[in-house]
Order: sequence, then structure tokens, then C-alpha cells
Amino acid sequence: MASMFTKARKRLKAAAQHLDIAPEVVEKLSYPKETLAVSLLVRMDDGSRKVFKAFRCRYDDSRGPTKGGIRYHPDVCMDEVMTLAFWMTFKCAVANLPYGGGKGGVKVDVHKLSNAELERLSRAYIKAFASFIGPDRDIPAPDMYTNGMVMGWMVDEYSSTVGYPAPAVITGKPIALGGSLGREDATGRGGYYVTRHLEKELGLAPGKSRVVVQGLGNVAFWFAKLMAEDGYTICGLSDSRGAIVDPDGMDPSAVAEHKRKTGRLDGAPTKGKARMMTNAELLTAECDLLVPAAMENQIVEENAKDVKAKVVLELANGPTTPAADTILNKKGVTVIPDILANAGGVTVSYFEWVQNKAGYYWGVDEVQRRLKEIMEPEGRLIHRLARDKGIDMRTAAYVHALDRIGKAVEAHGTKSFFAG
Ligand code: GLU
Repeated sequence: MASMFTKARKRLKAAAQHLDIAPEVVEKLSYPKETLAVSLLVRMDDGSRKVFKAFRCRYDDSRGPTKGGIRYHPDVCMDEVMTLAFWMTFKCAVANLPYGGGKGGVKVDVHKLSNAELERLSRAYIKAFASFIGPDRDIPAPDMYTNGMVMGWMVDEYSSTVGYPAPAVITGKPIALGGSLGREDATGRGGYYVTRHLEKELGLAPGKSRVVVQGLGNVAFWFAKLMAEDGYTICGLSDSRGAIVDPDGMDPSAVAEHKRKTGRLDGAPTKGKARMMTNAELLTAECDLLVPAAMENQIVEENAKDVKAKVVLELANGPTTPAADTILNKKGVTVIPDILANAGGVTVSYFEWVQNKAGYYWGVDEVQRRLKEIMEPEGRLIHRLARDKGIDMRTAAYVHALDRIGKAVEAHGTKSFFAG
């Protein structure tokens, strides 16, 4: 079976067909610039030591330092980290941030570690990757199963390694350590701005449209909350164990509160008669807008034909496989691709980095205004490009990003030097 990375890379070739771009640019972007895999030896609470596989990839830095999160998950491997770094490269270009793409990860089940063990693991990661990352080289951030607390340990470890406070090395930090206001809800909010901005063209009716969100983590919760506040009906939410569905809708805050108190979705308050279903069933439930906001590879060849939504907003990274994508396109379902839909997170990470470098901090209104000023026009551009070229929005997003990355690669001197 083709690796995840090989599949992801096909997007590059597909996008290149729509651009006048030098072949060497496509070749350069077909391989990661740098990867590093290490084994971390970490002291457990019982005194024993355990090895954890850890990775980081700097995919391409033509547009600036590489940027992307660190993921803690039992399935993490170099193939996945490289794929995620490839996606970050295009995501940062879609949002026009002065960054290339990177990503990192540790193969670990966080549920099996104590907080003290997690702290030692996070500090060990930074010790091992201290010369690979850096405020002007490669800037990590949170991803699945990492959060502000983990970033706090990491920035502390990096700062004591270099000998001075270096907040700009990592984003998604706690506010007290130089984090930005508005980073917490940025990914969900960015997706919300794009959806609301394009809703007419997408055929969504505010106040009437029904939304199903897969997930109830940070990204899923904030998106659902903002949409519900604007009158959209949230008729489905889920966690890793299953989904709660009510066609009459639900208040995401009440559901999240119930989950926080009881650890489950079952029994959460909704507006009508709720029913529980599996995550797989949720993806094919009746709705106008389907929002996978949890894991990759959720909409696959087997279930794509049964998707009922008119629009899919990819708040997760890579939730739709290429085979499923083809089926959705044929069915006339509009997919707002991950590299646009969830770019709000890295965009506010960029704002955090800018504030750290300037040593001057913005109010939340300024963060949100600037986020909106990026998400709306980039979403509009990609939507228009798709319409004008008669291509789907994912291909259009890659074309748009590749145009920007290609110009940077060429400006570094690839083409014209020998051409005279
Ligand atoms: N992990 C997030 C993503 O996949 C955020 C990355 C960042 O803020 O650098 O976009």
C-alpha cells in the first residue's frame, strides 16, 4: 500500500499542472528538507526507564522558518510526521505566513503516563531537538494530545538550554509565558470565519442549516459554539467513543460541560430527543455541513458515497482520503480543505511569534480582527480560483499555495541563474 506521504504528495503534482512552474521546484517540494528521528530515554515514576520514539521534520523553509505542531499519539511514525509537515508547508502558504512547514511527534499514549512522566518526556524531546528547532529555524506548537502545559515545559527547557528566555521558539504557550490571547479558539474560529464568509456560495442557510461536528476537543468545541451562537443548529457532536445526535440541536457548551463532569456524552442535555451512535454513523448522518474535527482518514472510500452533507469543512488534518475526495467531488459535495479550513491555528501562532519577537502584546480584539482579515480573503480567493478553473477547492488551495511557494523557491535562484 502506498504510504500516507506518497498519497499526500500527489496533490503537489496535481496542483503543478495548473501552474507554469519550473520542474525543479516540484522536485524540490517532493522531498522533506530535513528529518530527525531519535529515541528518548525517560525516567518513569517507578524508577525504571522507558524508550520513546520521537520525530521532527522540517519539510520546506523556502518561505521562512518551518512551523508546525508536536503530536503525542501511539500511531506516530516518520511517514505521518512527514505528511503533516508537507501539509503545514501548504497551509502556511495558503495563509500567506512567512513560514515553511514542519511537524513533530512522539509515539506515546498520553493516557498511560502521569503528569510528571509527561513533563520528563516533553523536556527530553526538547533536549534531543534543541539544535534542530529555534525561533528562526523551526517553531513547534501544540497538536493532538499536546497543549499549553506541554508547550510551557518545552519553552522552559529550551530557554534553560540556550541560557536566556526564548519565548518565540514555541507557540501555543500559556499566556503567562508569552502565549497570545485568542490562540485557544483560533482554529475553530478561523473555520467559522471562512464558513460564514462563503455560506451563500456554499448553499448554507444561517439559522436553518444543520451542522454535524465530529469531535469535542478544542477545535470542534469552539467551532460548534461560534456556529450555534449565530443560529446554526448543531445536530451532532462526538468523542473518541461515540456520538450524540439530535436533529433539534444542542448547545455545545452544555454538552461539553456534561462530558467534563461525567466523562461521557450519553445523557448530555439536548433540545429534542437525543440518540447515541458510532463515529462512523455520525459521518453519514443527515446534515447540511459536516465538520470532521478529530482524526485523519475518517471519510474513506467505503463511507463517502453515504455522506449527506452539501459541504464538508475539514477542521482536522487529512480527514478525507484521496479516494473519498473523488467520490465527494462526483457527488457535488463541496470540501473546504484542511489547509484552508484549519489554518486559523497556525495563523494565530504566527501572531504569537510576532508578539514574542516584538515584546509587545495585543488585545484579543486585535488578534481576532487580524485573523478574520486573513481567513476571509484567502477563502474567497480559493473559492474563486476553484470556480474559474473548474476545479475542486482542495486542488485550488494547493494551486494557490504552490504559486506562492514556487515564487519563493525561484527567487532563491533556482531558475534564472543558468538561463542567463
Ligand atoms: N497543529 C496545528 C496545525 O496542524 C497548529 C500548528 C501551529 O500552530 O504551528 O495546524
